Amino acid sequence: MDPVGVAAALDAGPGRAWQSKCPWGAPNTTSISCSLADVMSEQLAKELQLEEENAAFPEVVAVAEGPFITGENVDTSSDLMLAQMLQMEFDREYDAQLRREERKINGDSKVSISFENYRKVHPYDSDSSEDEVDWQDTRHDPYRADKPTTTPRRGFIGKGKDITTKHDEVVCGRKNTARMENFAPEFQVGDGIGMDLKLSNQVFNALKQHAYSEERRSARLHEKKEHSTAEKAVDPKTRLLLYKMVNAGMLETITGCISTGKESVVFHAYGGKSATEDKLKIPPECAIKVFKTTLNEFKNRDKYIKDDYRFKDRFSKLNPRKIIRMWAEKEMHNLTRMQNAGIPCPQVVILKKHVLVMSFIGQEQVPAPKLKDVTLSSEDMKKAYYQILNMMQQLYKECNLVHADLSEYNMLWHDGKVWLIDVSQSVEPTHPHGLEFLFRDCRNVSQFFQKGGVAEALNERELFNAVSGLNITADNEVDFQAEIEALEKMNEDHVQNHGKKLSMLSTDGDPPIYDE
Ligand code: ADP
Ligand code: MN
Repeated sequence: MDPVGVAAALDAGPGRAWQSKCPWGAPNTTSISCSLADVMSEQLAKELQLEEENAAFPEVVAVAEGPFITGENVDTSSDLMLAQMLQMEFDREYDAQLRREERKINGDSKVSISFENYRKVHPYDSDSSEDEVDWQDTRHDPYRADKPTTTPRRGFIGKGKDITTKHDEVVCGRKNTARMENFAPEFQVGDGIGMDLKLSNQVFNALKQHAYSEERRSARLHEKKEHSTAEKAVDPKTRLLLYKMVNAGMLETITGCISTGKESVVFHAYGGKSATEDKLKIPPECAIKVFKTTLNEFKNRDKYIKDDYRFKDRFSKLNPRKIIRMWAEKEMHNLTRMQNAGIPCPQVVILKKHVLVMSFIGQEQVPAPKLKDVTLSSEDMKKAYYQILNMMQQLYKECNLVHADLSEYNMLWHDGKVWLIDVSQSVEPTHPHGLEFLFRDCRNVSQFFQKGGVAEALNERELFNAVSGLNITADNEVDFQAEIEALEKMNEDHVQNHGKKLSMLSTDGDPPIYDE
């Protein structure tokens, strides 16, 4: 019956009185906007489906519209990512189920058993909100090699007279059967529903062992297929970010890890095709620097950023996760300044949250050696020294920067010259400790080259004056440093009085920040 028919029937009959009192009001014949045919139409079904999918996978959709995607791979390229998302969803659901079972079994018993060891998602990673402080910023360092978790094994359950020890064979057997369900999903344990299966500890342990080694084996196979061990070293969210870059065709493959430092993990990748032809020029080989995110590192480093007036307003308002992104952002800005001044350094490709993609210094997956690892002829050593002196001056005068971690560890020897890297901590000279950092840089450089036999190498105080253009005359280190600190104090007053007018931070020419 069509809607008009219904209304007419209601109109004619005794339903009329009811209708006027009806708490839902009179049926409105005009408000029905689509016919049955419409409702049954495939087109509408498709649209609704799409809408639902959009709601369920907003991130995936964001990628499809992302800056790197090229027209031809919009439809298919997100399969892998979709799988990742689904896996994450699945893991979460799995853990929720685990928690429900845990609650059911424990009831309000004082002594409880824990299923923690069977969880898929790390407890501190269960927070889905992007901007909340999560495990990355607190207790768990995902980059450290996995240690086996040591949850104390409770040997008994129940209370009062009903304590059942783990040695009760029947209970234990049933429990083992139940726990078997918690093996990896691809591990077929059969369907024991409705059967009172009791697995002995011995059988259960053998099965468990087998399930684990199966899981590891399939992980290994999977890894081989991916040609990548890189993904293992990062947390799921970072992995997803990297996947997105590969999916979008921006990177061809991520081949592996170059370095796992205290503050970052660096990967090598082959560059993909450039999506936005005009802006993004992707080098054939890239280095991906993933900033590590433990609270301890902030404590060590926040003196660099906290007092940097460029970031001052933002610092206090930010949560640790955002501060990490700021390190990446800082490195990007500093590299761009250096690039503009013509200092040999990696070229920024793109910044995504705490992941910075830049050009790779080296060749065919082999990174250029650090200055500390390379043996140079005395001629090259001298050449390197003068080049560094020059670069330090340029950095100071043209980029308005002090490296602040300059040493033979952060200089690469490539193509017959020195390349500067690792500038996330670099600050402007007017930073409250900028000149102290510069002095430390000078000491490292001067010691390295004096030890390396470069007779012309200036000592640290001479180098400091040569780089900064200041003329501190103290002839011993203590007095020299006292003068540096006095200057810093003056600088700080100046910056505070003049606020940001002194800022040299220019966003011109900086690459775009794609930050969802
Ligand atoms: P960290 O803060 O961990 O010291 P770095 O930026 O110094 O981070 O990178 C760590 C290591 O990774 C470097 O010592 C270098 O060997 C390698 N590396 C970093 N960036 C590049 C790059 N663009 N090209 C080649 N190797 C790089
Ligand atoms: Mn470094």
